[in-house]
Amino acid sequence: MADLWDAEKRSWVMSRIRSRDTKPEIVVRSILHRLGYRFTINGPLNKSLPGKPDIVLPKWKTVVLVHGCFWHAHEGCKDFRIPKTRSEWWAEKLAKNKARDAKVKRQLREAGWQVITVWACEMKTVEKLAALVIRLGTEMASTEKKSSYRLPAETATRVAEEVKGYRVSK
Ligand SMILES: [Zn+2]
Repeated sequence: MADLWDAEKRSWVMSRIRSRDTKPEIVVRSILHRLGYRFTINGPLNKSLPGKPDIVLPKWKTVVLVHGCFWHAHEGCKDFRIPKTRSEWWAEKLAKNKARDAKVKRQLREAGWQVITVWACEMKTVEKLAALVIRLGTEMASTEKKSSYRLPAETATRVAEEVKGYRVSK
């Protein structure tokens, strides 16, 4: 993917990214909000749906799950490695987490909910953030319009710019 900015702008952007510590959930909420999608974080569905999801969009019958790459065992991701000490214990624990995630997703889909999974590693750079904005915008719009749609790159870049000040913790 081509760089969106020249070197000077890029280093400024990167310095801004490190300026605040923000949870991945907050970044996803900010993106959805800017794209015009309303969601609940403390509503009845956040408590009653399988897995007690953090972000529920009742109008679109969609749930967004935001996963840390280590605890949710993101396969093939640099941020997911089984620790060298007590590795068997970790392998078992993380496999259980993964199995629980799969079960929750199955239950949500069986109940008619669309499930979008977002990984923390999708927010590590502004380029990745812009790609995530496109993915979220595209998946949400497809739900809404029941047709294929791709969020324009200009919109994604603008939204990524707006949320770029967030430093994402793992
Ligand atoms: Zn990851």
